[in-house]
Amino acid sequence: MRAWCGVVAKQSFIELRDGVGGFMFDVDGTLAHRGADGRAHAQPGAIEVLNKIRASGRKIVEFTNASHVSSATVAERLRDDGFPVSDEELLTPIDSATSYLLRRYRDQPVQIFATEAVHDFMTAAGVRVTRGDDARVVFVAHLQQVDLDEIERAARAIERGAPLFTSSYVRGYAGANGTILSRGAMITAAIAKSGGTRPRVVGKPSHAAVAELTRRLGVPASGIVVIGDDARMDIALGKLGGSPTILVRSGISGGVDIDALPASQRPDVAIDGVSELLEFL
Ligand SMILES: [Mg+2]
Repeated sequence: MRAWCGVVAKQSFIELRDGVGGFMFDVDGTLAHRGADGRAHAQPGAIEVLNKIRASGRKIVEFTNASHVSSATVAERLRDDGFPVSDEELLTPIDSATSYLLRRYRDQPVQIFATEAVHDFMTAAGVRVTRGDDARVVFVAHLQQVDLDEIERAARAIERGAPLFTSSYVRGYAGANGTILSRGAMITAAIAKSGGTRPRVVGKPSHAAVAELTRRLGVPASGIVVIGDDARMDIALGKLGGSPTILVRSGISGGVDIDALPASQRPDVAIDGVSELLEFL
């Protein structure tokens, strides 16, 4: 199935509809655009789409890339901005990273680069966070400022064999006033260089994120429609798990030439905005 617009897209939607048990939406650029005030403003039709899916009894997850607070805090702020989102419906890379670390590195000391809020969330979830020289794993989320001694401590841990994980490794994000450069990516790059390793992403796109998504929805990836504005992150996540994918041209990949994308990032369907989903739900 490959359809970018018009009649063929409609046929693809009808094919998609059968067997769909859940939906994953990206937030920024897809359901919302972020104002200069930092608040999320709903894209046309976004609230109606969420309500219509919920009324049909199917499940929704919003998977956003925020890694500076817990997903419960992100959900609370979205509710304040008028989005009908429960805590259970909200996922961030912190959730997929935490589940992954507990599954693969339970009881091993982890050095994390994260805010106090994320530190507290991961500790409460059971991750053994260390501030000493005994790290067996390094994980980078988001920090506004970082101490080079901490970078060096992580690099030494990597020299001793620790893997380096990061919530995201894209250079930046579309903000209200241009690109917001990712400080998490800056920190990750510094550690990777000093430690002589390559970072592994555990947010979008990654197998860790696919696992978190399917677990949260209770639906196999083939039954989840993945909808987002970023081909590199959202569509790549869907493709990795074998989900049907819809690129929404209301955000960062709005002007992208779909035929020029690698197969791993090429959506099944492209639409101009989420309101186009309404007639197919
Ligand atoms: Mg987005």
